[in-house]
Amino acid sequence: MTGFVDKPVPVEVPGLVHLHTGKVRDLYRNEAGDLVMVASDRTSVYDWVLPTQIPDKGRILTQLSLWWFDQLADLIPNHVISTDVPEHAPAEWAGRTMVCRSLRMVPVECVARGYLAGSGLVEYDRDRTVCGVPLPEGLVDGSELPAPIFTPATKAEVGEHDENVTYEEVVRQVGAETAAELRQTTLAVYSRARDIARERGIILADTKFEFGYDQIDGRDVLVIADEVLTPDSSRFWPADLWQPGRTQPSFDKQFVRDWLTSDATGWDKSGEEPPPALSAEVVEQTRARYVEAYERLTGTPWK
Ligand code: ATP
Ligand code: MG
Repeated sequence: MTGFVDKPVPVEVPGLVHLHTGKVRDLYRNEAGDLVMVASDRTSVYDWVLPTQIPDKGRILTQLSLWWFDQLADLIPNHVISTDVPEHAPAEWAGRTMVCRSLRMVPVECVARGYLAGSGLVEYDRDRTVCGVPLPEGLVDGSELPAPIFTPATKAEVGEHDENVTYEEVVRQVGAETAAELRQTTLAVYSRARDIARERGIILADTKFEFGYDQIDGRDVLVIADEVLTPDSSRFWPADLWQPGRTQPSFDKQFVRDWLTSDATGWDKSGEEPPPALSAEVVEQTRARYVEAYERLTGTPWK
């Protein structure tokens, strides 16, 4: 069993009802019935939420998501209503808060992959498919796929692994029509984002979206929700260092993973013991990767 090393205590704000403490985000409902999502500086790796925070991480995730929502606005509506900090909430929430439409969430993690890595690579090495999608022989760690593929996963609770599933399984869960809409939208949004990132020297190897349905004029409309195209939900690789056949350097928690599993800590990721606190250097390097991803993608200096 894994989970939080230190379980965060939700902030009490008059007028807000606390709904959920996620690995990274805290969710509240406001008096209008909208969702208030607050991204913390927490980090999760190997299904643990670490005892150490990465300064600014929640703000970076939020600002990057907002930037992407704008880039995607002509493809799909998003759940954002405003970024106003609710009355009586701590000033700390500025920049990390999104007030969102409360959607009927589709219980599928919609993953698109354009390159082979992570659980995709593990499955490919075993049987030459990922989530039931057949792939050609000869691919290695970091290879570009012939075309992007939809590789859905089921959503897990804190401390559990998301599990890759086939498209047929998604059809069974949500019906053929919704499954087709999820696949088509996931691939369209991935392709747009991949092209935008590529112009900025970043390979979007894979990414995860969450969608929900909103009632608009009596019709069910698919809306993109949660966070989008952040280093927590995506693999971003510096394009100039891309070299299939090895693990790619990436703009995410790689420093954290490498350090935790190095001799420096003596921590066993498959054991029962919680991970130790991060060193100041690992915190600073990780923060720098998040800042760099933000700056390269948006073209704006992090303030
Ligand atoms: P993790 O993402 O690390 O698996 P988590 O999903 O439990 O953890 P967070 O991502 O921190 O938690 O919190 C976001 C939660 O809010 C998710 O459960 C997500 O499905 C949900 N969510 C996001 N946007 C909306 C929305 N517009 N309406 C309803 N629920 C939403
Ligand atoms: Mg989540």
